[in-house]
Amino acid sequence: MTHAAPPFDVTRIREDFPILSTRVRGLPLVFLDSGASAQKPRVVLAAMTRFLETSYANVHRGAYHLSEVATEAYENARAAVARFLNAATPREIVFTANATAGFNLLAHSFGPSCRAVVVSEMEHHANLVPWQMLRDRAGVELRICRVTDAGELDLDHLASLLADGRVGLVSVTHMSNVLGTVTPAERIVAMAHAAGARVALDGSQAAVHRRVDVQALGCDFYVFTGHKLYGPNGIGVLYGRLELLEAMPPFLGGGDMISEVTLSGFVPASVPARFEAGTPPIAEAVGLHAAIDYVSAIGMGAIEAHERRLTDHAMARLSALPGIRVLGAAQDRGGVFSVAVDTAHAHDVATLLDRRGIAVRSGRHCAEPLHARFGVESTCRASFGLYTTEAEVDAFADALAEAREFFR
Ligand SMILES: *Cc1c(COP(=O)(O)O)cnc(C)c1O
Repeated sequence: MTHAAPPFDVTRIREDFPILSTRVRGLPLVFLDSGASAQKPRVVLAAMTRFLETSYANVHRGAYHLSEVATEAYENARAAVARFLNAATPREIVFTANATAGFNLLAHSFGPSCRAVVVSEMEHHANLVPWQMLRDRAGVELRICRVTDAGELDLDHLASLLADGRVGLVSVTHMSNVLGTVTPAERIVAMAHAAGARVALDGSQAAVHRRVDVQALGCDFYVFTGHKLYGPNGIGVLYGRLELLEAMPPFLGGGDMISEVTLSGFVPASVPARFEAGTPPIAEAVGLHAAIDYVSAIGMGAIEAHERRLTDHAMARLSALPGIRVLGAAQDRGGVFSVAVDTAHAHDVATLLDRRGIAVRSGRHCAEPLHARFGVESTCRASFGLYTTEAEVDAFADALAEAREFFR
């Protein structure tokens, strides 16, 4: 007997998410904003409640029983994240507040060791602004890799940006939260390493939709955020190769990140405690652990296959609609579709969709430079999760067609 995961049954999976059975204006909720924050399955809520009711205390402090239980739960969550990413050891996993905090940590602790840093035109502001701040604070040069008309990283341009050997870090998205583009991470890593640069990947989207193996990718840092992975908000992850983390100074100072303090100075703690100043997100770590167990039991491969069917279906439906422009057409893409309707502003389209019970994001999705690159002021974005159905994709496409007529 093998223990194969049960076949993917989206109807069954939807029952795990209480919120999906709520109604909006009397209509079934069509939630297509998982790329902004995903809904939580009952097992995540239950794990957090159970922990708070029976095992909660601060971690790494008390000698008493509850604190030991809570510390164990927190460290077990770290081990679960390490397995999820296939990190070499749980010590390579730093808990942060979210992806944004992960990049700020990286910019402060690793950034100053670089002469130049490369990001791309399709970064979320979380992987752009911290590097602009580093440039302004410390004079580290910031280089921007172009994106092609298809919405892919321009690898020839990347090669030219790396050519002088001055780049210390390439920090790019693993999957765009606007275009759905999945970047060729192994190629990027190979190119960067050959030029003496390290690589950080923004996995805020990719880690939700695909199996991630940081050792197979060969990346040096990997960042993601708990609330998009069906876990709670308030927790994120920075993975870093151990020898790199060990060479990095702390970012935030305070309790837990020190091994010794006197009035005249301090000795930082070892890794990863060095980067976890203050009381961490404890119940949130338990919730993230439950979320990782949940998606792992379903299987990241099965989730990817389901979303691939949805993505192909969405591409076919949307590209057949007159007057609807989908940003990006990458070869390798996931279930994120940012669309512009030729007759209407994105906010008006989203308002009409809301009347049909459809929740989408409208605006620039924390990627203003990318919208400028494609010459659009704003877009409506539908983003899929493991609970998204083909019928919901159809509802989105139908409502877009209706909106185009309505605003004509
Ligand atoms: C959402 C997102 C972030 C930021 O996540 P936070 O939880 O808001 O810090 C960063 N990068 C990408 C690609 C995202 O989609």
